[in-house]
Amino acid sequence: MGGTVTDGAGQHEAGRHGTAGGRPWRNWAGNITFTAGELRRPDSPDALRALVARSGRVRVLGSGHSFNTLAEPGADGVLLSLGALPAEIDVDTAARTVRVGGGVRYAELARRVHEHGLALPNMASLPHISVAGSVATGTHGSGVRNGSLASSVREVELLTADGSTLVIGRDDRRFDGAVTSLGALGVVTALTLDLEPGYEVEQHLFTELPLEGLDFEAVASAAYSVSLFTDWGAPGFRQVWLKRRTDQPLAVFPWATPAAEALHPVPGMPAVNCTEQFGVPGPWHERLPHFRAEFTPSSGEELQSEYLLPRSAAAGMLYAIDGIRETVSRVLQTCEVRTVAADEQWLSPAYGRDTVAVHFTWVADTAAVLPVVREVEAVLEPFSPRPHWGKVFGIPATVVRTRYPRIGDFAELVRELDPAGKFTNAFVRDVLGA
Ligand SMILES: Cc1cc2nc3c(=O)[nH]c(=O)nc-3n(C[C@H](O)[C@H](O)[C@H](O)COP(=O)(O)OP(=O)(O)OC[C@H]3O[C@@H](n4cnc5c(N)ncnc54)[C@H](O)[C@@H]3O)c2cc1C
Repeated sequence: MGGTVTDGAGQHEAGRHGTAGGRPWRNWAGNITFTAGELRRPDSPDALRALVARSGRVRVLGSGHSFNTLAEPGADGVLLSLGALPAEIDVDTAARTVRVGGGVRYAELARRVHEHGLALPNMASLPHISVAGSVATGTHGSGVRNGSLASSVREVELLTADGSTLVIGRDDRRFDGAVTSLGALGVVTALTLDLEPGYEVEQHLFTELPLEGLDFEAVASAAYSVSLFTDWGAPGFRQVWLKRRTDQPLAVFPWATPAAEALHPVPGMPAVNCTEQFGVPGPWHERLPHFRAEFTPSSGEELQSEYLLPRSAAAGMLYAIDGIRETVSRVLQTCEVRTVAADEQWLSPAYGRDTVAVHFTWVADTAAVLPVVREVEAVLEPFSPRPHWGKVFGIPATVVRTRYPRIGDFAELVRELDPAGKFTNAFVRDVLGA
């Protein structure tokens, strides 16, 4: 057996709050202090395998960008970082695929894929997040024809409870449960993703899009990826971000005013943190995320919530939030509306329905934010919202469960691969009703 297992001393990639073993471990936002018996950072595949085989409970921490206790193992468990393992990124140009290690982030992956003249179909608002952690929670970008980031996955390599390796590809009956899996099936040691030929994107920003008379379908379809931002200080949107692929036609956008200056989605934050705007073409990975890899994404001091609803409910959802906008705007930094294409992954928040996603970047004050989260959830309830797995929500697990028709199949898959519940925690148990 090669390699060693360290106690996690040193700066963890979850960032600003990472500390050495024995002291608190927090997520990127700092709102969660993980309860864990120990933090481990194995530095070789053999050390990882041995650690998993002998541990009673294990949860992997990706880049720590989730805002809840999804990654928490509990007092008797191991919080496992893959950050000390070799960062595998293996591009197969002939097959147009990439095999990526379980701890790699999109920023590194995208740079490498781009060097080979290839591309991913979409990215989230930031490239700082790990690929495995992102697909585990159904993380998405925008675009009426773009599925969540998990849609690119063609194969998952899992280190399972007994320390053996299991590869699940698209032709496996378990595949649709194995990608957006909340970390509950094992340690994802590698993913293979589909790639496509490289392409360029331009960002065209507009301001002041009224809510009244909004043709949501037309607006959301006006470019490859569209994001609408508002602080809900008034009805309608302060900013519209159109991300247009240069190999696709430029749509006319008559509903809002072209932006006169570079913008950050959070009012008052410097636009220098954001990817290049004003229609300057650039590689896909430097335009699809809103935030540059080398700067703090978003505001850095925040909580986030997001709800995914049927896209046909977009107008009703927007008017419902507009009805409580004074309450919402008091604790809001920015709200973003995006679209995600339907998929077949059992725990995907876009499962079986073309989706509109409404996201809230709140102030970093849990006590002030939680009551507003509940008010938002109350007005969204008629639209059957599915909360983002990685963000703050209050919808009871008993209700969330009813929004996933294949949840029983997922529970069965967890029992099949991990009968003793080594990779299950309180969050997952709640969701599964186990
Ligand atoms: C500033 C900011 C912007 C964001 N923008 C977006 C956005 O545009 N779109 C969107 O949908 N979401 C967005 N998010 C949410 C974010 O994408 C998710 O929380 C995502 O899960 C983060 O990935 P992570 O690696 O940090 O995951 P973590 O929070 O570290 O982990 C998430 C889950 O994945 C599991 N996991 C991680 N790695 C592995 C592995 N190798 N094997 C098994 N399980 C694993 C963990 O156990 C946990 O259950 C944003 C978050 C922040 C902080």
